[in-house]
Amino acid sequence: MGDAQLFIDGVWADAQSGETFPTYAPSTGEKIADVAKAGREDAQRAVQAARKAFDDGPWPRMSGKERAEKLRAVAAIINGRSAEIAEIEARDGGGTIKKAMFADVPGAASTFEAFANCAENEPDVVDRGESPFPPAKSIVRREPFGVCSGIVPWNFPFLMAGWKIGPAIAAGNTVVLKPASFTSLSAIEMVKAVQEADIPPGVVNLITGPGGSAGEELAQHPLVDKVAFTGSTEVGRRIMQLASGTVKKVTLELGGKSANIVLDDADLDLAAAGVLWGTFFHNGQVCESGTRALVSRKIYDEFVGMLVERAGKIVIGDNMDMNSDLGPLVAPSQVDTTERYVKLGLDEGAKLLCGGSKPTNLPAGLDQSAYYLPTIFEADNSMKIAQEEIFGPVLCVIPFDSDDEAIKIANDSIYGLGGGVWSKNLDRAHSMAASMRTGTVWVNDYHMITPTQPFGGYKQSGIGRELGDYGYNEYRQIKHVWQNTATDRSGYLHFAALSGNI
Ligand code: NAP
Ligand code: MG
Repeated sequence: MGDAQLFIDGVWADAQSGETFPTYAPSTGEKIADVAKAGREDAQRAVQAARKAFDDGPWPRMSGKERAEKLRAVAAIINGRSAEIAEIEARDGGGTIKKAMFADVPGAASTFEAFANCAENEPDVVDRGESPFPPAKSIVRREPFGVCSGIVPWNFPFLMAGWKIGPAIAAGNTVVLKPASFTSLSAIEMVKAVQEADIPPGVVNLITGPGGSAGEELAQHPLVDKVAFTGSTEVGRRIMQLASGTVKKVTLELGGKSANIVLDDADLDLAAAGVLWGTFFHNGQVCESGTRALVSRKIYDEFVGMLVERAGKIVIGDNMDMNSDLGPLVAPSQVDTTERYVKLGLDEGAKLLCGGSKPTNLPAGLDQSAYYLPTIFEADNSMKIAQEEIFGPVLCVIPFDSDDEAIKIANDSIYGLGGGVWSKNLDRAHSMAASMRTGTVWVNDYHMITPTQPFGGYKQSGIGRELGDYGYNEYRQIKHVWQNTATDRSGYLHFAALSGNI
C-alpha cells in the first residue's frame, strides 16, 4: 500500500494495479512517500464516480448559497492547517517555505473564498427582456457543464489544485483532479479538506499518476464535459487533440516567455528589484515569469549593472529555511534542462553576465544537483534562449532604442501570458500595456495575481481565463430559453409562413 492514495467516490483507495511511485524532497534527494500510481482504469472509475455525482447527486441541485458555504468551510479548514500544508508543499516541490506560507496555501484558501462569492452572487438566470419578435421574451440560464477534469503542473501544486477544484465545484460541476507526478502530496491535503467539509462523495475525486496514461484518459473520456489543463504548451496541444474526439470544452493555461519592459524614465531601483523578482521567484519555474527584460539603451549599462550586482546577493539554500530566497529546482532533471539552455545560449553567442553554473557553497546535506545559480544573459530576441521557455533561473536582457521597438520585441514571441512595464509616466506605461499582446500586464509591479481578477494567455499561452467571474463562467454552460408570452397564436408570422391553419 502507498502512503498516498487515490480518492474516488468518497473513498481512499490504492490503484487497481496496486502499483506506486516514489516522490522526493528535491532539496536533499530523500524519498518522502510512495504514491498510488493510477492507471487508465482508475481514471475511468473516477470519471464514472464524478458522472454519477453530477447526474444523480445533490451537488448540482443545491443553491449557489449552499455550495458557497461548503467552499468557505474548505477555505477555513485549509487556513486552520496552513503551517502543516505549507511544509508538505515546500518539501515535496522544492519551493521555499516562505513561498508556501505566504503564497501557495493562503492563495488556495482565498481561491475557494472568491469562488464561494461567485456561487453566491453571480446570477444563474438573467431575464433578457422582450425579443424582436413579440410577443416573446428571452431568458439566459447559466448551468454547470457536468464532469470537469483538472490536470495541473508541479510549480504551484496546491494553488493550481485550488484553481481547478474551486471554480468547478462552485458552479455545480463535479471534478476529477490529477496533480503532476513530481508533486502529488499537497493535492491530497486539499481533498482531505473537501472531505472534512462534507462535500458529497464523487463531487471531488483525485487520481495521482502518470500524465501519459491516467492524464490522457481524463482528457479523452466521453463522460468528461470539460478539461481544464495547466502545463506546457506541448502537452496542451495533445490535450486539445484528445478532447476533440467528443468536442469537449477546453481551457488551457500554458507556457510563457514574458517581457518585462524597463523604460528610460523608470524608477531604476524599483525596476531592478521588480525584474529580479519577476524572473527568479521560484527559480523561474513560473509560467508568467518575466524572463525577457527589455531595457532602454539610455539606462542600459547602469540598470544591467544593478541587476548583476543584486542577483549575486540572492540567498540560495535549504528551502525549508525561512532565510532562503531560493531552494532547489523541482528535480535534478529541471537543472539539466537549464544547463542545456545555458550551453545553447553560449553557443548562440549570448553574453553571460552572471551565474551559468550550479552553486558550490551549499550547506552540507543538500543535493547539489538540484540547485542552479540565478543566471543573466545579454541576448538577442531571435535566440532560442529568448524564444523558448526554460523554466529555470535564466534571464535574457535585451536592449531597445524606442518604445515602438520595445513593443515589437515584446510581441515577437509565440507566447503571451504575462508582462511588465516600468515607468514613472503612467500614461506612457498604460499605452505600452495596451499594445502588448498578452493576458496580464503589470505596471511597476510583477507576479501579482488575485483570485478575483482574470488570468490567462494570448497566442500559444492558452485558451480561456481562470479566476474571477471570467474564470467562473468558463465552468458554466449558456442556455437560451425563448418564451412565447402570448396566450394564443394570433400574429405569429413564422407559423403562418408554413400554413394558414396549423
Ligand atoms: P507538463 O509536462 O505539461 O505537465 C503538466 C501536467 O500534465 C502534469 O500533471 C502531467 O503529468 C500532465 N501530463 C503530461 N503529459 C500528459 C498527457 N499526454 N496527457 C495528459 N496529461 C499529461 O508541464 P510541467 O512540466 O509539469 O510544468 C511546466 C510547464 O507548465 C511549463 O511549460 C509552464 O509554463 C507551464 N505552466 C503554465 C501555467 C499557466 O498558468 N499558464 C502554470 C504553471 C505551469 P505528469 O506529471 O505525470 O507528467
Ligand atoms: Mg517531490
